[in-house]
Amino acid sequence: MADPVDILIIGSGASGAAFAWSMADTRMRIVCLEQGDWVKPGDFPANGRDWEARRYGDADILPNRRQLPADYPVNDTNSITKIATYNAVGGGTVHYAAHFPRLHPSDFRVKSLDGVADDWPIDYRTLEPFFAENDRIMGVAGIADDPATPPHPLPMPPIPLGRSGIRFAETLNRLGWHWWPSAAAIATTEYDGRAACINLGHCLPGCAQGAKASTDITYWPRAIRAGVELRTNCRVREITIGADGMASGAIYYDAHGHAQFQPAHVVVMAANGVGTPRLLLNSKSEKFPTGLANSSDLVGRNLMLHPWPIVTGWFDDEMDGQRGPIVSIWSKQFYETDPARDFTRGYMLQFGRGPGPVGEAQAGIESGRIPWGPAHHAAMRRHAFHRAHIGVACDDLPHADNRITLDPVLKDSHGIPAPKIDYAVSENTRRMMQHGIARATEIMQAAGAHSFACSRTVLNYPGHLLGTARMGRDPARSVVNEWGRSHDVRNLFIIDGSIFVTGGGVNPTSTIQALALYIADQMKQRLATLFE
Ligand SMILES: Cc1cc2nc3c(=O)[nH]c(=O)nc-3n(C[C@H](O)[C@H](O)[C@H](O)COP(=O)(O)OP(=O)(O)OC[C@H]3O[C@@H](n4cnc5c(N)ncnc54)[C@H](O)[C@@H]3O)c2cc1C
Ligand code: SF4
Repeated sequence: MADPVDILIIGSGASGAAFAWSMADTRMRIVCLEQGDWVKPGDFPANGRDWEARRYGDADILPNRRQLPADYPVNDTNSITKIATYNAVGGGTVHYAAHFPRLHPSDFRVKSLDGVADDWPIDYRTLEPFFAENDRIMGVAGIADDPATPPHPLPMPPIPLGRSGIRFAETLNRLGWHWWPSAAAIATTEYDGRAACINLGHCLPGCAQGAKASTDITYWPRAIRAGVELRTNCRVREITIGADGMASGAIYYDAHGHAQFQPAHVVVMAANGVGTPRLLLNSKSEKFPTGLANSSDLVGRNLMLHPWPIVTGWFDDEMDGQRGPIVSIWSKQFYETDPARDFTRGYMLQFGRGPGPVGEAQAGIESGRIPWGPAHHAAMRRHAFHRAHIGVACDDLPHADNRITLDPVLKDSHGIPAPKIDYAVSENTRRMMQHGIARATEIMQAAGAHSFACSRTVLNYPGHLLGTARMGRDPARSVVNEWGRSHDVRNLFIIDGSIFVTGGGVNPTSTIQALALYIADQMKQRLATLFE
């Protein structure tokens, strides 16, 4: 049997990498098990002319379509939105857009402020130093002092607004509505050995330039230099429990498909809002017959996926096409609760560029806007590079019935039961989506778009997987405490998006990583009692 390690981390994505780096200075023996492999920037689609086509193949954001060896299937047929993930060193950050807003202070206090859902057991101020530390290591571009959030400096100047960003900013000025250049985890100057963004194209399927901050190029090189061991192609099957009721380690399949046992003094889950509850539910024992750390019956419940309508507009003059990072500016005009509206909480508007020509042709043919035949080229000329979009990032409050369970039939390539998603939006969210679509359409019209399209729920976007093992002080109403420790199993921690109490109306990764750094800091302060 392998020697026990001090800390065993499951998952090397946004949270696992930040946590591993922070804990490395304790000089403890730390191992991270990751089911995927290292990605090679030379293999990213941006290196070839078929970059758009590959987004519907091996670089798809949906694991169910991509079906690479590291992927596991997800039954999301009963969900309004599909599950987007990436399974490799760096996790979702390899394929994310690197849009980097923070949750607002009000997101942590929705019960106190608005009488809905629950307050978090921690607040924005608690996370503030960890947001700042994460911004420094990831390398975030933007402009300080957005009036919508507490002021904070950012290490680099913002990404260029581009034609579409300038058009929308001028429109919002005319309407008198808030806007600000987006914060993005993208190097706009040379930064920490990374080259600056050269606006190569859309950032989702990996940034060959190395400008986009994925954790395989930010945290992991530092963590490994500091002594953390990262084992790739190792898929964890279950967390084991000792006679004392404490986590004793994990059983995983190594790169050759052989089952191995890695004993550990402390187990840390960082497998994301779907992967973590899946693993906990798969780790049944006499003591935990319904899944590990699940005495509250909340493991897998309260899933939040951020419903995300998109309003698309086409303009007479040319916009940016795919050139540059996807999102240029945001508006928080409708973010906070307004009693005059017929819903609670709110949404952020994200203003983005268009796709490349293949994406335009594919969507145009599907919708009938771009016909086959003699009219094709003229229609392509009118549409390609003439598009911009507005995304409505809705705060979908937690509901116990929005949940992850284990599929009774579907299994991954190692025979491990796959997750099943049940997800619907509430009446409050429906009204919020309606309001956001109406405002985004108003902006499009005012910006001069000659035609529009609106998708109420984008099926394959955005891959924000939150809330399925939430934090709280009451063991009956939460899975982990205010510093990520399981209420049921004292040496089991959860640090990924699962522990969100509410999802806010912003992309979550900045907050996920700040939480992971905060939990690492709490553990370091309690080292003397961590292993009891
Ligand atoms: C297309 C796309 C665009 C996105 N855009 C943005 C954006 O612009 N801004 C933003 O803030 N967020 C964005 N996100 C979301 C962002 O990627 C996630 O919020 C973030 O990566 C979640 O971090 P995490 O640590 O919870 O999990 P992940 O980063 O998903 O990491 C989990 C890791 O655990 C591994 N794992 C899972 N199960 C096992 C197992 N059984 N054994 C071993 N390893 C396992 C996985 O392989 C993975 O590497 C986007 C996501 C996608 C897919
Ligand atoms: S636009 Fe910039 S960050 Fe995005 S893939 Fe291209 S170089 Fe990388």
